[in-house]
Formats: sequence, structure tokens, C-alpha cells
Amino acid sequence: MKKKIVVIPGDGIGGEITDAAVKVLKKTAAIYHLDLSLDQKMAGGTAYDACGDPLPKETVEAAQNADAVLFGAVGGDKWDNVDPLKRPEKAVLGLRKALGLYVNLRPVHVSPVLAPYSPLKPDIVTGTDVLIVRELIGGIYFGDRCESEIHDGVERAWDLENYSVPEVERISRFAFKAAQGRRKKVTSVDKSNVLATSRLWRRTVTKEHKAYPDVALNHMYVDNCAMQLVMNPGQFDVILTENMFGDILSDEASMITGSIGMLSSASMNESKFGLYEPSHGSAPDIAGKDMANPIATILSAAMLLRYSFDLDREADAVEKAVQAVLTQGYRTGDIMSEGCTKVGTCKMGDLIAERIG
Ligand code: NAD
Repeated sequence: MKKKIVVIPGDGIGGEITDAAVKVLKKTAAIYHLDLSLDQKMAGGTAYDACGDPLPKETVEAAQNADAVLFGAVGGDKWDNVDPLKRPEKAVLGLRKALGLYVNLRPVHVSPVLAPYSPLKPDIVTGTDVLIVRELIGGIYFGDRCESEIHDGVERAWDLENYSVPEVERISRFAFKAAQGRRKKVTSVDKSNVLATSRLWRRTVTKEHKAYPDVALNHMYVDNCAMQLVMNPGQFDVILTENMFGDILSDEASMITGSIGMLSSASMNESKFGLYEPSHGSAPDIAGKDMANPIATILSAAMLLRYSFDLDREADAVEKAVQAVLTQGYRTGDIMSEGCTKVGTCKMGDLIAERIG
């Protein structure tokens, strides 16, 4: 079966980390006889510089005709002052919308080899295994907004948060199904003591839950969840939440692992199409220096094989290769510690690719 992957490196470290992941995908394809076609397209600030549009039509069309997208990252100080509608980050939001990617998955798993890198005590983090299921194309990030208006001589700006019942039903079903394949527990996170959208969220999740009696459901306010994630992350299996809360909580959860350079992510639609990208940004401070950790992007490629192509054996092989390289003591600078061997982005990609299969 031939599978088409569009690779969008983006800006900053995007090129270096996607190169490493492509190397790993090519090695996996060679070992397991997969017919993968990899086609590179532009997005973000690089695309804005080249053609005045952070998300060229050609990129959107290529993604729509592909089976999956492997994405690096976009953005950087260079584009801080461009028209807000042309900012590099518009490429991510635009692709999510154009491809109907309504769910974002962020696995946060602390293996024993990573526990020492966590800023939290090893006995708190060891064994953490959380899947954050975040609604991705609704809520305040996609509501109406006003950049500036004057009322009674005072300037203000506003952003509108809204959610519909079908939007919440769809993401709830995804979370309950995901929990069925895991430890069968969903924690739905909202702010229903304050927000009307959260009260609708809670009502709808509770109603959907009736179809999944084998899954336990509890509700938690977002401020409490932020505390619980650092106090006792082991209590969570699947965290289900809306767009903005999910954005913040998933970055917080990512720090539990000790490096943002290790965290993969997938954004999917209802037909198994997915956009796979690291959880971090374009890291302009280390771009072009062969310093970035490519593991988040490589693990995102493993998620691509697993979730969009149903290639569990091949995804396992990539994840095992990552664990093997870490166990053998190779580290990029962000996770370097005494007694380990420091390597750059490119070498880390080579080492992981060599261990596939
Ligand atoms: P960032 O994630 O790019 O960087 C935060 C810190 O983590 C930096 O010190 C960076 O060097 C480090 N870091 C990130 N990834 C790393 C890796 N793989 N290996 C080693 N260290 C790594 O976040 P930021 O600095 O807030 O944002 C930089 C730019 O990225 C901004 O323009 C932002 O808008 C953009 N951004 C893009 C995405 C995306 O494309 N999906 C996501 C978040 C931020």
C-alpha cells in the first residue's frame, strides 16, 4: 500500500528535526518494505518570505491529498511585526481548520530512563502515563475577536469563546474511546464555576459518558488540574479538555518529562488523517546550530505510523529505537547529564535510524 506523507519543515529548527525524522521513516520503510512517498512543502515565516502567505494554497492542497502530514514548527522573532493575519502561526491554525483536525493528542509518558530529567521528584513522576485529548478547532482561539475598539474613549480588545454541543460530543467520544484502550479513566477539565461554555461542556461530557459505562469519568476545574499535574500526575489516564485549557495544560504536562524536546503530538480528523508534530515551537535561539532534540519529531513520526497507517509493529520499532539510544547514554544538549555522550540533532537521528529493526 502506497502512503503519501507531506513533510512541512516550517521555520527555525523545523528543517533539522524533520530531516532527522524523515531519515528514521525512510529506514523504517526500507526494513519493513513500506511504500512511503515523502513530499516537502512550505509553511510559516519561510513561506511568507517566499510568497507573502504563511500557508500557501499549494501546501494546503498537498496536505488534503496526502494520507498524513509530518510538521516541524513555525514562527520566530523575525516575523513578530508582520500583519497579524500573515503571522507564521496562522499556518498551524489554518491547516487544522482546512483539514478538520478537531482533536489533538499529547502523550506524556515518563519512562525510568527519563525520570531523572524531570524537574519534579522521581517518585512523583516515574510511571506517569497521561494522554491529553484537546479540542482543537473550537473555543476562544477560533471565536470572533476584535483587535482594538474605542468605547467611551477607552481602547479595548476582545475574544469570544463559544462551543456547540456537537463539538463537545465529538471530542468526548474520542476521549472515551481512547480511554477504553488504556486504563479506562477520563478526567474532563473545565471552569464550570465561572464560564457558561464550561457548563455546557460538563453537561455534554456527562451525557456522552452514558454510552461508555466501562470508563470512569471525573470532572476537575482547570486551576485544580494545573496543580494536580505537578502534585500527582500518576492519577491521570486521559485528560479531556477544550482548546485553550488544553494548550496550557499540555505544555505544563510536557515539562513533567524534563524536556519539551521529547514530546510528540498528533492532530487528527474523523477519517484517520493526522498532522504529526513535536509539541515544542521553532526554537529560534538554537536554530541552525545542530543542537535541537529531534526525538519529539521522531516520536511524532511513530504516532503517524500507528494512528494514521495502523502500523503498530513499525511504530513500536521506532519507539524502541529511541529508548535504545537513550539507554545507551546518547543525549542532545537539552537532556545532557554527567556520564552521557552528547550528540547533535543529525547524529541523534542517525543513531535512532541505525537501531530500527
Ligand atoms: P519553543 O518551544 O520554540 O522554545 C522554548 C524553549 O525550548 C527554547 O529555549 C528552545 O530552545 C527550547 N526547545 C524547544 N524545542 C527544543 C528541542 N527540540 N530541543 C531542544 N530545545 C528545544 O517556544 P517559544 O520560544 O515560546 O516559541 C518560539 C517560536 O515558536 C514562536 O514564534 C512561537 O510562536 C512558535 N511556536 C510554534 C509552534 C508550532 O509551530 N506548532 C508551537 C509553539 C510555538
